[in-house]
Amino acid sequence: MKVEIKEMTATKGLVVFSDTNPSVVNAIRRTMIADVPKMAIDSVEFHMGAIMGEEGKEFESISPLFDEIIAHRLSLLPIPTDLDIFVFRDKCACGGEGCPSCTIMYSINKKGPCIAYSGDLEPLGDSKFKIKNDLVPIVKLRDGQAILAYATAQLSTGKEHAKYSPVCGVGLRYTAKISLDPSKCDLDEACINSCPKDVFVREGKKIVIAHPEECNLCMACVEVCELGCITVGEDPSKIVFKYETDGALSAKELLIRTLKILEEKFKGFGEMVSSLGK
Ligand SMILES: [Zn+2]
Repeated sequence: MKVEIKEMTATKGLVVFSDTNPSVVNAIRRTMIADVPKMAIDSVEFHMGAIMGEEGKEFESISPLFDEIIAHRLSLLPIPTDLDIFVFRDKCACGGEGCPSCTIMYSINKKGPCIAYSGDLEPLGDSKFKIKNDLVPIVKLRDGQAILAYATAQLSTGKEHAKYSPVCGVGLRYTAKISLDPSKCDLDEACINSCPKDVFVREGKKIVIAHPEECNLCMACVEVCELGCITVGEDPSKIVFKYETDGALSAKELLIRTLKILEEKFKGFGEMVSSLGK
């Protein structure tokens, strides 16, 4: 299998796998969604009753939304995750009580009128755990309303709940196998004009397939060509894989972690199979 990284930004990755088959690449996709762990807020404690502001003004700890909805919104925020530091809470040396190796505590204290954003969540302890995407709106508070809450984030996987899934968009597609018969072509350029991805280009007295990797298999060129000189098929041995993280993990780290998890799973499976023969 050959791996070619076409694009790798902080949150997006575009990788082309060749000499492979769809089941292998799909295993990578499923591991990304369900098996790579991520930190997410799991419990929120809301302060009840009056909240005193500066200058002695009293605020009520209410908002237009139910506490459950606010807690749900908090749980979906991308919590910066360092997988070299954090371990699963139930496997932590603290015995699941919660310590800096398995939990991050956040507090939020906002008084209306204002909008509380993800950036208003303050980590208790290291400031590197402040949420990078700081403009996610949580709740709009009116004058006299306030929110004071403590939230606890822990590590888990997408298998347990979608909020722990580090990837928010992942898909794969086969690359196209395009062929063009120049002996039939009348050079009317209908294929060039119909292609949304500019796969075809005219070079002098012939039309060439200039960018076959851009083809998204829409078949517009095949439909528009009346002489039937173009054929477009799928190549399942060469797959374009595209994914985007929610920001908790970088795109590069997500791919590396995914491959490590798969490697360990295959190793474990191999050991189980070889032990059958003993
Ligand atoms: Zn712990």
